[in-house]
Amino acid sequence: MRAMILRRPGTALEPVALPERVPGPGEIRIRVTACGVCRTDLHVVDGELVGAALPVIPGHEIVGRVDAVGDGVQDLKLGQRVGIPWLGYTCGTCPYCSMGRENLCDQPLFTGYTRDGGFATAAIADARYAFDLGEDGEDTNLAPLLCAGLIGWRSLVMAGDGKLLGLYGFGAAAHIIAQVAVAQGRRVFAFTKPGDKKGQAFARSLGAEWAGSSEEVPPVKLDAAILYAPNGRLVPLALEAVCKGGRVVCAGIHMSDIPAFRYDLLWGERELLSVANLTRQDGQDFLSRAATFQIKTHTTVYPLASANQALADLRAGAFEGAAVLVP
Ligand SMILES: [Zn+2]
Ligand SMILES: [Zn+2]
Repeated sequence: MRAMILRRPGTALEPVALPERVPGPGEIRIRVTACGVCRTDLHVVDGELVGAALPVIPGHEIVGRVDAVGDGVQDLKLGQRVGIPWLGYTCGTCPYCSMGRENLCDQPLFTGYTRDGGFATAAIADARYAFDLGEDGEDTNLAPLLCAGLIGWRSLVMAGDGKLLGLYGFGAAAHIIAQVAVAQGRRVFAFTKPGDKKGQAFARSLGAEWAGSSEEVPPVKLDAAILYAPNGRLVPLALEAVCKGGRVVCAGIHMSDIPAFRYDLLWGERELLSVANLTRQDGQDFLSRAATFQIKTHTTVYPLASANQALADLRAGAFEGAAVLVP
């Protein structure tokens, strides 16, 4: 199989040819047809997230077809289209797993980080963490749902039921969650980097009633805000934008330091929380609703061999929506 592999953080991914692995007990092999490029891949490649199992094949928004099954796999059939997300394995016995919070597992494995991911022509996954994707929709359009969509969904649920929702950082996750929020009857306010008129127009085209710079104060107080941009400076700005009792959700796995801020920004029962990873239930909840939300993902497709270019373009903010690699 062909793959793009990370040997050392801070260096480019290297194209390699590897022998194809036979799935072990409980595992499946997937013939990859599309794999989304997530900001977390960038954090891993840049070394902002330490602890990657190097060398590692990044990529945790995998769409493909089951190509081989290991002993004991019963629910998945050869040829079935599946999605492989970030959550690759949980222990099932730690205190967090025991209370149904497997997203916080003490001994997890994460796809494309501590186990090999989908920047490749084939991938091995634990069958219990694969999602059935059915036959509706194009592979490249579905790929971004597997992280931007799933973790975006978890962050939206954590934001509560408030009608007025702010989204800071209008990338892959926000472009999906804006559509979901509008379909739920919420009013969306989108915040981009200062001067990003293209991003603001993109947000309005997806139903945001207001779009402006993250430095701006929205025209009305918001019920909740979700931060997708990895910029800690946005935390006090978002707290300032929400009403009393409002909630600010930090959805990224990595963020720059949060500057000190006045206590009165938090006062008034405002809440500040983070969202970590996903549970399999989140995936089922979101994927079973995705069709009713009529989500249209906007993708920029790159050949697998151009993974470094896709990452560079993501870093530079060179496209709207999500990047997807195809082998
Ligand atoms: Zn656990
Ligand atoms: Zn991701």
